[in-house]
Amino acid sequence: MAELDRPGGSPAVPDDWTYAPAPESRDIVRLRERYGLFVGGEWIEAKETYETISPASEEPLAVIGQASAADVDSAVTAARSAFANGWSSLPGSERAKYLFRIARILQERAREFAVLESMNGGKPIKESRDVDLPLAAAHFFYYAGWADKLEYAFPNRRPRPIGVAGQIIPWNFPLLMLAWKIAPALACGNTVVLKPAETTPLTALLFCDVLRQAELPAGVVNIVTGDGRTGAALVEHEGVDKIAFTGSTEVGKAIQRRLAGTGTKLTLELGGKAANIVFDDCALDQAVEGIVNGIYFNQGHVCCAGSRLLAQESIYEPLVDKLKRRLETLRVGDPLDKNTDVGAINSAMQLERIRELVESGREEGAEIYQPPCRLPEKGYWFAPTVFTNVAQSYRIAQEEIFGPVLSVLTFRTPEEAIEKANNTPYGLSAGVWTEKGSRILWMAQRLRAGVVWANTFNRFDPSSPFGGYKESGFGREGGLHGLEPYLRFDE
Ligand code: NDP
Repeated sequence: MAELDRPGGSPAVPDDWTYAPAPESRDIVRLRERYGLFVGGEWIEAKETYETISPASEEPLAVIGQASAADVDSAVTAARSAFANGWSSLPGSERAKYLFRIARILQERAREFAVLESMNGGKPIKESRDVDLPLAAAHFFYYAGWADKLEYAFPNRRPRPIGVAGQIIPWNFPLLMLAWKIAPALACGNTVVLKPAETTPLTALLFCDVLRQAELPAGVVNIVTGDGRTGAALVEHEGVDKIAFTGSTEVGKAIQRRLAGTGTKLTLELGGKAANIVFDDCALDQAVEGIVNGIYFNQGHVCCAGSRLLAQESIYEPLVDKLKRRLETLRVGDPLDKNTDVGAINSAMQLERIRELVESGREEGAEIYQPPCRLPEKGYWFAPTVFTNVAQSYRIAQEEIFGPVLSVLTFRTPEEAIEKANNTPYGLSAGVWTEKGSRILWMAQRLRAGVVWANTFNRFDPSSPFGGYKESGFGREGGLHGLEPYLRFDE
């Protein structure tokens, strides 16, 4: 807090509201200079390597292995052998013990993981600390609970594990996506080969330490780092029984084409262009917080981000005014500062993509607003942005920007809101803000979205299934539904 100004005995008033820096210490993280691949419980060296950096400073953090097709083959062989030699036949109650152990270790080491996640991914520490880590641990706890109850979850269907699961995850929630993938797979008795995203491998590699600490049998979880080539090798490997993918629609479609007719099970969690729909009877200030959380949380690198605001015409002006004023209070900067609201963009490539789409918005005729904010010189940054005067046909209203950019559209009636909300190739999530319960239900029935939040946004819980319609993919993660893709049924 700035110094207090006390002229002539008048009440104490701060001379400005700038926050003093409150950086989280990096000392808790012990980075190795280089990391290999985690295969069969051991570290193996990859022939090719690359450097992973901090997107906030462009500082190199470590040298990472680029797994080749041969390395992927070793990992799948290790996973197959662990599946056959004990893991798949272990009683569910025993598998649960490992999952509980992993969850508890994640909780114990939460600060270390949160700092590393922010260093490697650029997300604000308050998010990795308060969202990513608690949710990752909760996923392991939740699926630990199901491991010995599969017969009750699917009565009379004789659920059995399917074998080796190949899992490919993105860079927006590196540890959380790992938890979403690994926890249900292990609970069901499968073994895993997981590929983290090229830009954010470090928490997955630290997780290997947790696996050792939990004494998980060797080969049950294998981590192979690398770029898209590693992911493609995993998809193409004939020893993989199921692929779970989270990422772009483009790569998801390529994977689906590749696996068509092979019998390999597939779930895809792809992009989104969610509508956050605000009616004139809602609690306006609460809605503004929900809009901000919906699109600026994690720099907008969120598949279910509320990237389109649909505002009812009668409240359009006060809503946009309040929103702009709220944007001025967002603190953009050092991800390790506990006061930071918006961190760094994950990579130079993603920043380029955001810039290109924002430019298209200007060219097509939308009006741009960015609050005054000083962006750091080094690293990848983009100011929180609002576009008004947006037509449905504009690219910024149709394409996933995956950055801190909101497109505002308007509507008059609930029917029009539904039509506009559903007018996208995606269907992952939506938000409705109104005081009327009946209207919430009416809207939820008509919105083509896997998740509909009412008077809130970006709420996650391991017991609640998550997934999409249309080009947002298929299959559900989380909840009872999240078990099904990892099981076969001898009915
Ligand atoms: P990708 O779909 O390329 O990345 C997701 C994962 O797939 C990464 O681990 C990636 O590896 C891997 N991968 C890349 N190519 C292949 C392949 N041919 N076969 C198998 N796996 C592959 O997303 P991008 O990182 O390129 O992001 C591009 C856009 O995608 C973003 O701007 C955003 O719009 C969207 N996106 C959506 C996400 C979501 O959660 N729905 C998450 C991430 C991105 P690598 O990291 O090495 O490229």
